[in-house]
Amino acid sequence: MCAASLNYDSPLALKAFLDGRGLGMRKKLGQNFLIKGGIRKKLAAALELSPGDGVWEIGPGLGAMTGELLERGARVKAFELDPGFVEFLREEFGGRPGFSLVPGDVLKTWKGEAGAPFLLGNLPYNIAAVLLGDLAEGKRLFRRMVVTVQKELGRRLTARPGQADYSSFTVLVAGLYTVKALVTMGPSCFYPPPRVDSAGLRLDLREDAAGEAAPPGLLHPMVRRLFSSRRKTVKNSLGAFVSSCSGTERGAKELAMAALEHCGIRPDERPENLDIPQFRELALRLQHLGVGG
Ligand code: SAM
Repeated sequence: MCAASLNYDSPLALKAFLDGRGLGMRKKLGQNFLIKGGIRKKLAAALELSPGDGVWEIGPGLGAMTGELLERGARVKAFELDPGFVEFLREEFGGRPGFSLVPGDVLKTWKGEAGAPFLLGNLPYNIAAVLLGDLAEGKRLFRRMVVTVQKELGRRLTARPGQADYSSFTVLVAGLYTVKALVTMGPSCFYPPPRVDSAGLRLDLREDAAGEAAPPGLLHPMVRRLFSSRRKTVKNSLGAFVSSCSGTERGAKELAMAALEHCGIRPDERPENLDIPQFRELALRLQHLGVGG
C-alpha cells in the first residue's frame, strides 16, 4: 500500500497497514500518529510556507505531514529514527523532488545537517524538551517552528515569571521565540491515544534573537544556575555563579551586587520572578564586568 491510498485518519487502516509490513507502534519512541486531517492542515498552514522553502520535519512517521508539506512546494528534510518507517518513507517519497531523509536519532543527526528556515514536528514526547533546548543552545535558529508537544511542555514554554511552570527552559526558548498556542489536542486526536493532552504551538523567531542583539553568551549558564535554586535570593545565587565562573569567591558577591544594582533588580528578589529582558540585561552586565570572559 502506498501513502496516497493510506487513510491517515483511520486507526483501523493504519493498524492494517502496519501489520501488513510487520511493523508496530513503539511507545518508547513516542509514536502517536495525528489522525485528524483538519488539524494536520492547520499546523502545516501555520508555517506560512512559500514554494521552495526549506523545512526540517522531525519524526515524520508514515509521512502524513510530509505529504502536506510537499504539496505546498516545500523542500523537506525528514528526521526519522524508526527503521521500518524510514524504509517506507524512502519508498514513498524518495523520488519526490525536494525530499530528503535523515535516518537515526535526531538528537544526534541534526548537528551534521545544514539548517533550514522552518521546522515542523509532532515531537516524540520523550525528546521534545531536550531537542528544543539543544537547538536553541546550539544557535540553530528557525524563522518559524510549528510543533506539537505534551500540554505540560506547552505550559512551560508560555509560562510567565512567578508561575510554577516558569523555568530556565522558558527563558532559553521563549527568549528566542514568541510562542503562540494554535490548538489543544486530546488523546482521541492520535493513534494510539496517548495518556496526555497535547498542544500545537507556533514559535516565531524574535527580532532580537540573532545578530548584534542576540542574547549574551552568559545568559544560558547563568539562568540555569539561578533556577537550580529558584527559591534563593538572586544575590546569593548570582554570587555563586560569578564565583564558579572566575574560580574564586573573592570579589564575586561585589560583582553580583554591582550588576544587580546596575539593572535595578532588588538583591533579595527570587530568580523565578525575573522576566526575560531582566535576565538578558543581567547577563550582559556581567559580561561587561568581565565575568566569564
Ligand atoms: N509525524 C507523524 C504524525 O504526526 O502522525 C508521527 C509523529 S510521532 C508523535 C513521533 C515520530 O518521531 C515517530 O515517527 C517516531 O518514530 C519518531 N521519533 C521518535 N524518536 C525519535 C528520534 N530520537 N529521532 C527521530 N525520530 C524520532
